[in-house]
Amino acid sequence: MRILLTEDDPILGEGIYTGLKQEGYTVDWVKNATSADELLQSECYDVAILDLGLPDISGLELLKRLRARQEVLPVLILTARDTIADRVEGLDSGADDYMIKPFDLDELSARLRVLIRRSGGRASNIIEHDALQLDPASHNVTLDGVVIDISPREFSVLQMLLENIGRVLSRSRLEEGLYSWHTDVESNAIEVHIHHLRKKLGPKMIRTIRGVGYIIDKAK
Ligand code: CA
Repeated sequence: MRILLTEDDPILGEGIYTGLKQEGYTVDWVKNATSADELLQSECYDVAILDLGLPDISGLELLKRLRARQEVLPVLILTARDTIADRVEGLDSGADDYMIKPFDLDELSARLRVLIRRSGGRASNIIEHDALQLDPASHNVTLDGVVIDISPREFSVLQMLLENIGRVLSRSRLEEGLYSWHTDVESNAIEVHIHHLRKKLGPKMIRTIRGVGYIIDKAK
């Protein structure tokens, strides 16, 4: 899962960046709205966290531009101003949720899980597929009730495939979800993660579509 964090406060930004990376998210952190806007148009994210008070244009203006492009990306806004009018304006401008500074990182993380779940159209935070269960909160994966030992990157690949069940994800889409934009990715990195996942989950769960990508089929 890949997050765009736009926050100009270095201490708060560093705290969120480090905390979310420890939770296994891939995080791109920028400190102004112009950089955020560029990345939103060139990269693929699962959620955006957007501070409203930014040095160039306001977070609200950026949010309005994003929604004007018909982008449905879930957006959580961070605001220092706790007035009802500000919150209403944020939500009316297309925010999906908001947090008022100062806030607790665990709560931010829980709200992000809810946004990701909703954008995947699921009613429960836990993703179930046949005998497989994946819990984004605890990073637990079980198969037939047995806990599977899985690396953070393997977990992310599996979560992306399960969030997009029945749809083929290309190697580059999986790479984008897994690595930030300044990372050099080994050309076979995704194949290696898929190989390990198949060893742990059985050979049939993840199908290769030659020349296109990978898919987990809908349960029958
Ligand atoms: Ca700010």
